[in-house]
Amino acid sequence: MRRLRRTKIVATLGPASSSREMIAKLFEAGADVFRINMSHTPHDKMRELVTAIRAVEKDYNRPIGILVDLQGPKLRVGAFTGGSAMLEQGASFTLDLDSAIGDANRAHLPHPEIFAGMEPGHSLLLDDGKIRLVATETDRQKIVTRVEVGGKLSDRKGVSLPDTVIPFSALTPKDHSDLEAALDTGIDWIGLSFIQRPDDIAEAKKITRGRASVMAKIEKPQAVYRLDEIMEVTDSIMVARGDLGVEMPLEKVPGIQKQLTRASRRAGKPVVVATQMLESMINSPVPTRAEVSDVATAIFDGADAIMLSAESAAGKYPVEAVMTMNRIAEEVESEDGYRAIMQAQHAEPEATGADAIAAAARQIADTLDLSAIICWTSSGSTGLRVARERPQVPIVAISPNLATGRKLSVAWGIHCVVAEDAHDQDDMVERACRIAFKDGIAKAGRRVIIVAGLPLGTPGATNMIRIAFVGGEEMD
Ligand code: PGA
Ligand code: MN
Repeated sequence: MRRLRRTKIVATLGPASSSREMIAKLFEAGADVFRINMSHTPHDKMRELVTAIRAVEKDYNRPIGILVDLQGPKLRVGAFTGGSAMLEQGASFTLDLDSAIGDANRAHLPHPEIFAGMEPGHSLLLDDGKIRLVATETDRQKIVTRVEVGGKLSDRKGVSLPDTVIPFSALTPKDHSDLEAALDTGIDWIGLSFIQRPDDIAEAKKITRGRASVMAKIEKPQAVYRLDEIMEVTDSIMVARGDLGVEMPLEKVPGIQKQLTRASRRAGKPVVVATQMLESMINSPVPTRAEVSDVATAIFDGADAIMLSAESAAGKYPVEAVMTMNRIAEEVESEDGYRAIMQAQHAEPEATGADAIAAAARQIADTLDLSAIICWTSSGSTGLRVARERPQVPIVAISPNLATGRKLSVAWGIHCVVAEDAHDQDDMVERACRIAFKDGIAKAGRRVIIVAGLPLGTPGATNMIRIAFVGGEEMD
């Protein structure tokens, strides 16, 4: 199975999409990576989802990425009788340390550390800022508030405190336990929420020790200010527009999205644009024009991946949402304007062999009108450097490591194939051509370019370019 687009799709799993059948449907519709949100998923459910995804991966024989997203120091309310409560404007609503289930008068706020810093007059923004409360009376056990902007508040929605200083650490005890459970289950990407400093990423990396790659979710102003240092240490970033739009003025988010996508493209590290991309599809089979335009903008920005949250996790139309993203990406990428923008924003190669070869491969593929750039990559780094070039032709990354194929499934333009390492150069060329033919990427009689580091399996030693003809049916 081969995608006809470069931009990847991340689909969040949840109640609307937790069966193996549904995961298979989402994969067929175009999901390349599945995201498990630990804010809403217990460990046994997480393991069940991973098992289901791996079964689908096996059925289709295509590597699929799994992103486990840690909650981070995000404040959330507790649960409500019946799953939600209606907060009326002007009413009084109390948040307290009592773990009893909530109603329209009160709810549990399970974060004792914030009560001391809270003062009357401070705002509380709930559910991505949709509901606004103002504290009227506070002590170490409860915060009494007045509802300024009301609405339906459901279980475990987020709480932002723009006026209150909170002593945050990068990974909460829950994150530590979720991270260990996720690493034990063998997943590919770890999402780190609400990071503020490069040290937050270093702290997580000390625990992951290469067992999973790290995606820094940029959702706080502090992280935007220190973006360059964060880019240095992280493996990828997410433009987490949900919380970014609560923590910062909404109108700043589009500019920040551009700044973040450019920075990560320059670094050659994947960037995922997330949240509310097709929000209306939670309840409607068709998106709004504005949503289509927003998805298209992320694609024109050259994002590696676009993400669905509640649309696929809890909406009525998860498959349609993935299909919609797929269609928008196929259409946008086939436009002349897209190619021109990718070229105009092209990042200069760094002074390394891998970058020089990646840039040369792109140029040769253009000049000779080749069908694909195929790279042999054990860790995936050669694949990412080729993707950084945003070439017009498809990129095939062949790796002996399934983990590499899974990791690269989030990266722009890469068709990942897991195959045994080649014995020698001829074998490498011949098998690359055969894979490109078999997967429908290059027709018989067409030429491809093959990039590798010799000897094979030496990370960062990209040093070979070959142009080769793709044979005919006899290759099968
Ligand atoms: P979340 O992160 O869905 O875990 O909140 C994404 C965002 O904030 O945009
Ligand atoms: Mn968030």
